[in-house]
Amino acid sequence: MPTDVTNPNTSAALGELNIVADVAPVVVPENLPSTVRIGHVPPLRRNTFRGRRAKVLRNLRSYLAVGRALLSEDHPFLAHIIPMRRCNLACTYCNEFDDVSKPVPVDEIFARLNKLADLGTSIVTISGGEPLLHPQLDDIIAHIRKRGMIAGMITNGYLLMPERIEQLNTAGLEFLQISIDNVTPDEVSKKSLKVLDRKLEMLAAFALFHVNINSVVGGGIRSPQDALVIGKRAVELGFSSTVGIIHDGEGQVQPLTGEERNVYHEMKRLEKSGFTRINSFQDNIALGRRNEWRCRAGARYLYICEFGLVHYCSQQRGYPGTPLADYSTADVHREHRTEKPCAPYCTVSCVHQTSAIDKWRTPQSKGTDPGLVQLH
Ligand code: SF4
Ligand code: SF4
Repeated sequence: MPTDVTNPNTSAALGELNIVADVAPVVVPENLPSTVRIGHVPPLRRNTFRGRRAKVLRNLRSYLAVGRALLSEDHPFLAHIIPMRRCNLACTYCNEFDDVSKPVPVDEIFARLNKLADLGTSIVTISGGEPLLHPQLDDIIAHIRKRGMIAGMITNGYLLMPERIEQLNTAGLEFLQISIDNVTPDEVSKKSLKVLDRKLEMLAAFALFHVNINSVVGGGIRSPQDALVIGKRAVELGFSSTVGIIHDGEGQVQPLTGEERNVYHEMKRLEKSGFTRINSFQDNIALGRRNEWRCRAGARYLYICEFGLVHYCSQQRGYPGTPLADYSTADVHREHRTEKPCAPYCTVSCVHQTSAIDKWRTPQSKGTDPGLVQLH
């Protein structure tokens, strides 16, 4: 499950700033698949003593991480690691998966996590491909926690079952995000509410970690209203909900159409105000306008591919392309100050969110790679 334009990841990045209350009831559309049980809500684990306690501790750790980042620009805030490029799905817009690669050996992952911890990284989000395919995923999560970092994961959710969710609780997972693209599967994406609604109910009933459900508008998604159904179902089940703007089939971000814009603004009302402010760059993207901001990729945010190389982000693989083992605080400083030419129309939400911490400090200048463009 990638970290790309479809994912305004992560609540893992900035804590549970986007939990929503008091939303209108879900309007049940006609022709809803029978497997989507709108109105059916199991007893929520988050409302138990263990659920509340886990939330308090998680939020405390998140706010401490933000405070530490405000005090010093010397360390990464969020790193995505790829323990496995293989995926059990094949979404047509995705450029972040294959169907052949093997899991990265766990000792190699541990070495990368140790290096991230030594660099002072606050949060590690496990992405892919599909991370649940990695046979030692729980050991990876436990190692992130052992090294004092916050543990998150992005998954397509297909492999979740009650027992598996309990194992993730035990391993120490703190944040999880699932991106759901439509209500019924189509040729573009099988990440549909029709398939995943039962998985969401399992998460509501068993997960001690925070769950965010991301839905998308734009890029030719067939029914923009699907995002609203998904978002409201997520909130009904006690999760947070976010919306991302997806690029079209040629990798370009187009202004949203009238109906897409209406859905986008309705979805924004589902996001809690703090998180909405951080994601306000999307308002310009929705209108096809550029954003003026300082991308801190390579510094505050690191994308570690399956080969252990550091990249700016999922859409700029190849820069700086340094082995993580050789990455240093000097690299973090350099990239903090390096302007990224792809920034004005960038849709990578996790980097926007992470970079917001340093909005007020350290201007940037042009780096040595003026030819950067976003991958299609
Ligand atoms: S679930 Fe889809 S978007 Fe996620 S990694 Fe697999 S193919 Fe890509
Ligand atoms: S501005 Fe460029 S380098 Fe930064 S996150 Fe966006 S695509 Fe990646």
